[in-house]
This record gives sequence, structure tokens and C-alpha cells, in this order.
Amino acid sequence: MHKLVAANWKMNGLKEAGVDLARGLAMRAASEKLNSELVICPPATLLISVAEVLRGSPVHLGGQDCHAEEKGAHTGDISAAMLKDAGCRYVILGHSERRIVHHESDAEVRAKLAAARLAGLAAILCVGENEDQRKSGETLAVIERQLTNSLPTGLAGLNASDLSIAYEPVWAIGSGHTPTAAEVTRVHARIRQVLGSRLREVRILYGGSVKPQNAHELLTAPEVDGALVGGASLILDDFWAIARACG
Ligand code: PEP
Repeated sequence: MHKLVAANWKMNGLKEAGVDLARGLAMRAASEKLNSELVICPPATLLISVAEVLRGSPVHLGGQDCHAEEKGAHTGDISAAMLKDAGCRYVILGHSERRIVHHESDAEVRAKLAAARLAGLAAILCVGENEDQRKSGETLAVIERQLTNSLPTGLAGLNASDLSIAYEPVWAIGSGHTPTAAEVTRVHARIRQVLGSRLREVRILYGGSVKPQNAHELLTAPEVDGALVGGASLILDDFWAIARACG
């Protein structure tokens, strides 16, 4: 199983800079073969131009979110089928910025996951505790609850290829703080336990302030199958260093 390293550009990048960044990554991936699979998740406005740049490259394309419905009166939203049509293989779902700022519930995330599967997209499902929950020792309970409520009941019909999980502690995102590698391993082990043996091939990524300086320690820890990278994915050298550190 290859590790997965996904770049979440969030709401960053105008056309010229985004295309340059994607082209730079595609060129490096073509000249130096890595063991890890790479994915760029640009803002929706750049999907088509980045897809063009990545054509024939080992780097894949992903969306940052999708609507649960296939089409209809949902101003400003994008369906999973539209992402697929634009060339996406992946979609990030349940990112904490969507859960917190857009008040997305686990039930909505579950519906989006179903839509992604129907469209043939692999979901990168984000879970993570906030600072208060961490301080009060609730981390594992929160992760377990988010997973159980965001995945189909009894994991019905789910295959390992439909899904990756990104463990992203909310307090670590964009803060420069991270859990220790041992803490990440502990949470990932619980996630794997919840997924059960049928889904043991699901990749479990760590996300939250991954930088070239901490990538090796965090991403080669037991149970860590890759990374979801925000800020550092906007700097080609940094994202490449993180991908290489994954092993
Ligand atoms: C993210 O928001 O998915 C993320 C991991 O952000 P950052 O790397 O900037 O902490």
C-alpha cells in the first residue's frame, strides 16, 4: 500500500500561481519517483486548469468538499459528479473548517460520503478533537463518535478503496503545534480498530501543521499512512520535502 500525501490548498491560489505550483509538482513527480501517492486539492476555480497540467502525471486531483445531492438548486455548491467530471479522483470531506464554520454535522458528512461513492470518488474523511476535548481527555471518544456517525451504519458496503481517514486535531491545524508521534499512533490505532479487519487497508493520514521539519517523525510513525497538508502544500519545496519524508 502506497502512502497518500494530499495538498489542501484551501481558499488559496489565483490561476497563474496555482498552475505554476501544480506544474512544478508534476515535474518533480515525473523526474523523481516517490513511493507515496500525491494529490492536489485546489480551490474549485482551479480544478480544470490543474487537471490539464496533471494530465499524464502520477499526481492526482481532488476536491475540497462536495454537496450530497447530485444536482439541483444549491447555489454555490458543487456535486461529487461535477468533481469527477473535472478530473478528480479524491474529495476531502468533513474538514474541521467545514464542520465548524459551515456547521456541518456528521450526518451531512455521511450523506456527502455516499454521494462521493456514487460518483466514483475516494473520500478523505477528516476527524479530530478540539483543544477543550483534548484537555479533558476525550480525544478517542470524539474520534470514535465522528467516525461512527460519518460512516455508513455498520460500514455497510464500504470498501478500503472508497476511503482514507485524515486525523486532524483541530488545535493543530495552522497553529504550528502538533501531537507527539506516539499520540498520533495511539489515535490512528483506535481509528483502525473502529474500521475493523475488513477495512484494514484504509489509509489513515495525519494532518495539522505538518512541515518539512516534523514530517519524518510524524509520518513514519507506526499506523501513519500519509499526510493531509495545508499551509506547507502552498510551497513547492516544502510539500516535496514532506512527500519525500513519508518514505
Ligand atoms: C488542514 O487544514 O487540512 C491542514 C492540515 O492545515 P495545516 O497543514 O496548515 O495545519
